[in-house]
Amino acid sequence: MKKTSLRFLQTHTNMANVIGELAPDLFGEGYGDKMLYSLFAETVEQVPIAISITDKKAKILYVNQEFCRVTGYRPEDILGENESLLSDKRTPKEVYHNLWRTISSKKIWRGTLCNRHKSGQRYLSDLTIAPMLNETGAITHYIGMHRDITQPYESEKKVINQKLLIESVINSSPIAMVVLDDQDKVILDNHNYKALVSDLDKGEPATYFLTLLREEMGDLWSELQSKEQGFNNREFKVESKDNLRTRWFSCAGNWFVENEVNVDAFFENVSKQYLILTLTDITRQRRQMEELHIQTLKTVMSEDERVRGIRETLLGAMHQIQMPMNQIRAAEQILKHRRDDQHAGLLQILQQIQQSGEEAVATMQKCIPEILQAAVIPVNINQLLHEVLLLSNQRICSNDIEVHWQPKSKLPTMLGSENRLRILFKQLIDNAIDAICEPGGTEQRLKITTDTDADLIYVSIEDSGAGIPVEKRAKVFEPFYTTRTMGGNQAGMGLVMAKEIVNQHHGFIEIDPDYDQGCRFKISFPLHRQIFKGVGND
Ligand code: FAD
Repeated sequence: MKKTSLRFLQTHTNMANVIGELAPDLFGEGYGDKMLYSLFAETVEQVPIAISITDKKAKILYVNQEFCRVTGYRPEDILGENESLLSDKRTPKEVYHNLWRTISSKKIWRGTLCNRHKSGQRYLSDLTIAPMLNETGAITHYIGMHRDITQPYESEKKVINQKLLIESVINSSPIAMVVLDDQDKVILDNHNYKALVSDLDKGEPATYFLTLLREEMGDLWSELQSKEQGFNNREFKVESKDNLRTRWFSCAGNWFVENEVNVDAFFENVSKQYLILTLTDITRQRRQMEELHIQTLKTVMSEDERVRGIRETLLGAMHQIQMPMNQIRAAEQILKHRRDDQHAGLLQILQQIQQSGEEAVATMQKCIPEILQAAVIPVNINQLLHEVLLLSNQRICSNDIEVHWQPKSKLPTMLGSENRLRILFKQLIDNAIDAICEPGGTEQRLKITTDTDADLIYVSIEDSGAGIPVEKRAKVFEPFYTTRTMGGNQAGMGLVMAKEIVNQHHGFIEIDPDYDQGCRFKISFPLHRQIFKGVGND
């Protein structure tokens, strides 16, 4: 084969008339070469890609069957015409400039043009044009090969549009949304989710919430995942680093499976599981609920305080009556022993006083209101202390008290009575606030901490008040004893009741002997105690 022919073959160009002209060069005169020529021409004719051969000015010299099918033109319609007949004139001029600049400099041009079918219908042409060179290296012809790519283009555009639509829908959602692959990698997210990345300061928010969800749901997580069943209303409290801003999120998730689109999945269906995770900020609703809860607690506790007040007043009165009654009883005994008629009248009067005194005590005893049995349930001590702080918030703020609230994170629950324990902490915190507000204090500080070890939960409530003198520390737990001038507004039963509640929970309460900056109450409760002393049976 001659040099010219070889170059023609290398540039994929030799057909019909053009091939005819070049045939002697290409295939020689032999029978075998003719066979090869006709086989080659037939291949070009039938190949399923639109092929045209033009002269240097794009005048069409040859078109194959596929060209006719794609463009709608028969050979007799188009041979001798310029390729520009196919132009829809929507293709920007620069594209043609670039096309011609490329092929004129003997390079292959590839690109997409907007073509017009004979019927007038437009289609997108994925076109390759290669120059054909003669033996001196000059361009003699061009060969164009094109495919109608309208359909794949439209499909691709539709997919892109759908993606844009989905993105704009999820972006306009007030909820943070994220799609994760089976490796927990973020595939898609919306603006609200992106905002959480900086707002929460927890690294990748999805990773943070997934850890919480897996921890909370345990085996249920993999069970739901394998069944592709979703979950919702999983609520989590998120503290900021400085514990100043608490936010609440409600998490919902749905798994879905998508077929892979990579090469590996071409012959074999390979699918991958994804999770759509939605994170709704429910802080506002939570706060409203908390406020409502606190209001309810205030009502319950003020009722409880009222009952306690009546009990203490009656117990106090009974206690006060006991003293003169004892004296009367003693006088009565003395008179009885004298056995003289002279004092018989007085003895009778004393006996009457004694009797009516006993009747009065019995009446008072009957009037002491009962404290209802309290339900024993798993109690979160941190939650109770948090509630009591909220209950006391007004007093704390109005007295400008600095609160150091240091709860132990992940404090285990203990069995107990929420109500009774709340009363206990309210009593101790109220006492602390009273002590802080006593005149003469230099600082106003209330510190509450919780802690735990394998067996016990520890609560410490300390104040910067005047403290309790060493000799009075044991007495403060006795009935009707108070360190306050004028007895305060209570009858000195607060710490008696506090101790009683601690005892009912098998706990221990003491005043820290080593603390001298004010007063520190240390309380501990056993974690695993099942038997419960009759809570509520005062
Ligand atoms: P034209 O005046 O034809 O061309 C626009 C610009 O192209 C001119 O300003 C000039 O800069 C440049 N140009 C045109 N002819 C030449 C030339 N001979 N030498 C150097 N520069 C030149 N076009 C399509 O729209 N669809 C096709 O499918 C298509 N297939 C082609 C296949 C082949 C093998 C070749 C060689 C060209 C093909 N063309 C095709 C290009 C076509 O020839 C036109 O250039 C184009 O359609 C623009 O036509 P026009 O009438 O708008 O402008």
